[in-house]
Amino acid sequence: MHPYHHALSSVQRWGGAVEDYQPIHDWFDESKAFIADFRHRALRHHAEGIFLCEKIFGTTLTNSDGKIIPVRWIGEQHVKEDLGRIPSVQDWLKNLMPQPWMQRAGRLGCETVDSEIAQEQPS
Ligand SMILES: [Zn+2]
Repeated sequence: MHPYHHALSSVQRWGGAVEDYQPIHDWFDESKAFIADFRHRALRHHAEGIFLCEKIFGTTLTNSDGKIIPVRWIGEQHVKEDLGRIPSVQDWLKNLMPQPWMQRAGRLGCETVDSEIAQEQPS
C-alpha cells in the first residue's frame, strides 16, 4: 500500500485531509529507500516503530477538521493495513538469517576489552 493510500484511509477514519497524515505514513515507508522490497518493513513496521513514530510526531495530531487524533492510532493503522497485525521487533529479528559477520564485531569488541585489561596489568 502506498503512503498516499494509507493517508486516504486515515481521512476515512478520522476526517481531515490527506496532508494531515501523509508525513507519518511517509515516515513508515521511508525505509524503502534502503531495500526496495517488503523487507524494508522490518525497520519500522512493528510495535517499537509505532512508539518511535509517536516520539517523532508527538502524542497527538490535530487534523484540519480540528479533531485531535493519537499519533499511535495512525501508526497502528499503517502497520495493520500492511501486515494484518502489529508484530514486535522480536518477531522480525527472530526470522533474520544469522551470518558469520554479524558476530565478528562482538568478537573484536571482546579482543579490545581483553587487550585493554592486559595493558592495565602491572608488568
Ligand atoms: Zn508501510
